[in-house]
Amino acid sequence: MIETATESSGMDMGSTIQKELDPLENARLQFEEAAARLKLDPTFVQIIKEPRRATIVKLPVQMDDGSFRVFTGYRVQHSIIRGPAKGGIRYHPDVNLEEVMALAAWMTWKCAVVGIPFGGGKGGIACDPPKMSKGELERLTRRYTADLIDVFGPESDVPAPDVNTNEQTMAWIMDTYSMHSRHTVTSVVTGKPLALGGSAGRREATGRGVLLVVREGAKRIGLALKGARVVVQGFGNVGSVAADLLAKEGALVVGASDVQGGITKPDGLDVPALIQHVQQKKTVVGFPGGTPIDGKKILELPCDILIPAALENQITHSNAGRIHARIIAEGANGPTTHQADKILNKAGVLVIPDILANSGGVTVSYFEWVQDRQGLFWREEEVNQRLEHIMVDSFHDVARMADEHKVSFRVAAFMLAIKRVVDAMTLRGVYA
Ligand code: NAD
Repeated sequence: MIETATESSGMDMGSTIQKELDPLENARLQFEEAAARLKLDPTFVQIIKEPRRATIVKLPVQMDDGSFRVFTGYRVQHSIIRGPAKGGIRYHPDVNLEEVMALAAWMTWKCAVVGIPFGGGKGGIACDPPKMSKGELERLTRRYTADLIDVFGPESDVPAPDVNTNEQTMAWIMDTYSMHSRHTVTSVVTGKPLALGGSAGRREATGRGVLLVVREGAKRIGLALKGARVVVQGFGNVGSVAADLLAKEGALVVGASDVQGGITKPDGLDVPALIQHVQQKKTVVGFPGGTPIDGKKILELPCDILIPAALENQITHSNAGRIHARIIAEGANGPTTHQADKILNKAGVLVIPDILANSGGVTVSYFEWVQDRQGLFWREEEVNQRLEHIMVDSFHDVARMADEHKVSFRVAAFMLAIKRVVDAMTLRGVYA
C-alpha cells in the first residue's frame, strides 16, 4: 500500500513538474489569467486562444553522403487579426508542435503590446544543425520554404531568425520564395543580411530593447543604473548586447553565463573584453578577467538586475525563492514558469515580461519590412530612435495598466495585448 502511494505521488510530482515546464501550458495560463480580468465575449476568447492555422510538413532532404532523410517542419499562425503572422523559425532537435504553438501565441501578444501591425506566428524544424553541413542546411531550408510557399508572403506570414537560424537562413528563404515568385521579394523575411535588404540596428535591437525597458524599470523602482549590479544568463546575441549597453550606462555586470558555464566579478566584468573572448573561444568560460562559477548558480548571484537571455524554463518554483534581483528583464522567451512568476511577484520583484522586454527584435523587424516595402533605408540612428520611442511608450502603457488594475507587469502586458487584438477583431467582425 505504502509503496503504491509513494509511487503514485512520485508520478504526480513528475507530471506536475512536467506541466510547470510545458511552454504551451504556461502560455495558456498567462492568457487565461489576463483574459479573465478583461471580461471578454467568450466567442472572441474561443477564437484567439487557439492558433488559426498549423501546418506540418514532411521534408525529404538529400544528405551529403547521398542518402535521403525526412525531417518534420512546422509553421503555426496564431493570429493574423492585426496584420501578417510574424515570428521566427527555430532549428532544434526538440522542436515540436506544442512548443511552436506556444511561441506563435507569444508573438501575437508581443506584436500587440508594442502596437506594431502584425499578428503572431512561429515555425520550426526538428533537426540538429551543429551535426549538419551548410549544404544540408541550405537544402532543408529551401525545401521547407518551397513546401510552405502558399503560407509565407509579405502580406500573410513573415518569418525571421530564431534559435539556430540566422541571416544566411533568411537569405535562402528569401531567394527560394523569390525564385517561385519570378521576382525578388525581400520583405518576405526579416533578419536578412544588410546587403539583401536587412535593417541597420537589427542585430542589436533585442538587447537594446532590453536596456530601454530596464532603464524605465529602474526609474520606476528608484534604482540608479550607474553602479547597479547586473547578471546575464546566456551571453549570445541578446545577452551580450544588453550587457554591453548596460555597462555603457555605468552598470556593473557582475556575472555572465552560457551553456558551458559562468563567470563572475563582484566589481564588474570588463564587458567589451568578455565579448572579444567569446568571439574567439565561443564561450565565457576561461575568461581571465573573472572567477569561474557554475552556470546553474548564475541566477542566484547577488544582483539588482537579472537578465535571463538563454532559453525557456530557467526560473522555476524550485529556484525562484533564491533570486535576489529587484528587476528581472526577460530577454529570452518564456524563461519564467507561471509558478515561479507568482513567487517573484509576492517577493516584490519587478518582472518585465518577455512579450515586452524582448520585443525590440520584432520591432526592428517591422522597420525592416517597412524599409523593404518602400525601398528606402534608414540610418542606424533613425532606427534606434524609433525603437526607443516604441519601447519607452510600451513600457509606460504596461505600467499604467498594471497600476490601474493592481496586477503584475506580465498580467498587464497580456491584458493590453489581448485587448488590442480583441478591439481589432470587434471592428473587423467575425466572418462566420
Ligand atoms: P543565441 O544563440 O545568440 O544565444 C543564446 C545563449 O544562451 C548562448 O550564449 C548559449 O550558450 C546560452 N545558453 C543556451 N543554453 C543555456 C543554458 N542552459 N544555460 C545558460 N546559457 C545557455 O540566441 P539569442 O538570439 O541571444 O536568443 C536568446 C533568447 O532570446 C532565446 O530565448 C530567443 O528566443 C530569445 N529572443 C531572441 C531575439 C533575437 O532577436 N535574437 C528576439 C526575441 C527573443
